[in-house]
Amino acid sequence: MPIAKPYETAALVAQVRATWAFDRLCDRLGDDSLGDMAEAILEAASRFASEVLTPLNPAMDREGCRIEDGRVKTATGHAEAYAAFRDGGWPTLEKSVDHGGQGLPLLLWAAAQELFDRACVAFGMLPSSQGAAVRLLEAHADEAIKAEWLPKLTSGEWASSIIISEVEAGSDVGRIRTQAQTSADGRWAITGEKNWITFADHDLTERIGHCVLARTPGAAQGAAGLSLFLVPSVLEDGSRNAVQVRRLEEKMGLHGSPTCAVGFEGATAQLIGREGRGLSQLFAMITQMRLSVGVQGLGVAAGAAETARAYAEERRQGGAPDRQPVTLDAHADIRRLLLLGRARVETLRGLVYATAVQADLAMLERDPAARAEAEALTAWFLPLVKTLGGEAAFDTANEAIQVMGGAGYVRDWPVEQYLRDGRVFTIYEGASGMQALDLVHRRLWRDEAKGLNAFLRLARDEIELAEAGPPRQALASALDCLDSAADQLRRWRNKPWDAEAGAFAFLQLAGLCATGWIALRLIRLGDDGLRAAGGYWLSDLAPRASLEYARILAGGQGLAAFAALAAG
Ligand SMILES: Cc1cc2nc3c(=O)[nH]c(=O)nc-3n(C[C@H](O)[C@H](O)[C@H](O)COP(=O)(O)OP(=O)(O)OC[C@H]3O[C@@H](n4cnc5c(N)ncnc54)[C@H](O)[C@@H]3O)c2cc1C
Repeated sequence: MPIAKPYETAALVAQVRATWAFDRLCDRLGDDSLGDMAEAILEAASRFASEVLTPLNPAMDREGCRIEDGRVKTATGHAEAYAAFRDGGWPTLEKSVDHGGQGLPLLLWAAAQELFDRACVAFGMLPSSQGAAVRLLEAHADEAIKAEWLPKLTSGEWASSIIISEVEAGSDVGRIRTQAQTSADGRWAITGEKNWITFADHDLTERIGHCVLARTPGAAQGAAGLSLFLVPSVLEDGSRNAVQVRRLEEKMGLHGSPTCAVGFEGATAQLIGREGRGLSQLFAMITQMRLSVGVQGLGVAAGAAETARAYAEERRQGGAPDRQPVTLDAHADIRRLLLLGRARVETLRGLVYATAVQADLAMLERDPAARAEAEALTAWFLPLVKTLGGEAAFDTANEAIQVMGGAGYVRDWPVEQYLRDGRVFTIYEGASGMQALDLVHRRLWRDEAKGLNAFLRLARDEIELAEAGPPRQALASALDCLDSAADQLRRWRNKPWDAEAGAFAFLQLAGLCATGWIALRLIRLGDDGLRAAGGYWLSDLAPRASLEYARILAGGQGLAAFAALAAG
């Protein structure tokens, strides 16, 4: 049977306290009770997750959402769970006190959100869009829109959706065709078709604010011609706006979260911020959105690893025929899989927390140099956290299924759902290939490697603190590969084909170095379990880093075989 007891939170609190720059965060907040607060919040989050969300998860997966009388109806029990989430104040955690939020740092939000996502990742899809919309409106909306929307979005009374994608405009956002026309009252009217939209309609809140990217008349081609609009589902007079869900996608996973094809038929809208600045304005939400996906991956990976560990402790199979069979975790290959899963989860968690702290400091630091460094580190870590989170969810669920054999493949256990739910994390919010391009084009070339250099400094400082031995040597050698690979990619700035051919390997190498840095910190600061996880992660880090390094250096040559493939 699936495990439904509250999650163990003491280890998470210890890791929160051990996060790099945690003391500086407490200092900048002027609050030394952050660790105690983490303890209380995580305990309450764990209770909510296990009591409300864990039982809902398989039910939502089986029932899914449907369209009834032209509206999206969520699965049985979803509305009650959402009401309990809202009434418990959970949507307010990291939101600004100016609009009724608790103003807590992203670090505490991320730590609590992992537990919710571990219990039911589809449930978290709506609060994630709400959080993104709050960031957008806070940064760019006029005062009247802020006053109307921010308190209600903060409390969770109203919801929001983020509407960018179209059939012809997925990764290539600049091809968006949805049109915005001015109307007589100074408002705008939106017309077009959007695809893949999460929670574009539902029965969980009375009103939804759709944040929509559209093209204004005479706007430039490409991304520069896009503007951002707020389209309310219900107008001030109580009538429904001209927004219609045409279809729900039938997906591999995340069945509890409706993914909608949406039509806008002259829907009433208000411009947010400046015309033609829509895409750049979206960057206001990117930190929390990408961090959200990393946290989703962490939640799913942690759930899968823990389920496999508990199963392997109980299930008996193999051993001498004249004796009672041994438990699965007595076998070398099963130990390998369990160690790998645990090490991946612990290092990812450390990186998620470290990124959240840097994102918090980027808002809190008053000294311009310290602020710039926190911003650069956040921007460096985000594509790594987003991609590694997505990969961790799928890989760890896959290994958990392997550990559990046939039991892992059937629906009595949650791991097959983890695998299906988690597969999308490397696709939405910027597919992995696009994250890799971001790292090379923006972080390395445009930002002149400020984030990378800041990371190399702090990782080498950690090496200085570490005991001599193979783990320390492993990270040092991976960092040398990263440094040297970055030099090669800089030299290829005028040969983008070579650089882009190695971009994904560069992302992987940067991810190995970031998690390797965390692993070395776990060895220095963690308890026995964390030290073991850190040591295991570093045990083969150097050869893995060398392999990615070789792939980067191969550049476009590595792809020369494609022509023959295409001809064949
Ligand atoms: C469950 C789900 C929920 C979603 N929710 C939302 C939502 O709420 N709002 C919203 O607006 N969208 C949403 N999306 C859409 C999502 O953001 C897109 O699927 C994503 O941006 C990728 O676009 P695409 O699917 O068209 O893939 P494509 O753009 O066709 O990309 C396919 C592959 O090609 C690669 N690729 C594309 N272009 C390049 C390039 N120039 N260089 C290198 N590689 C490239 C990509 O990395 C990817 O691996 C959701 C999608 C799903 C599946």
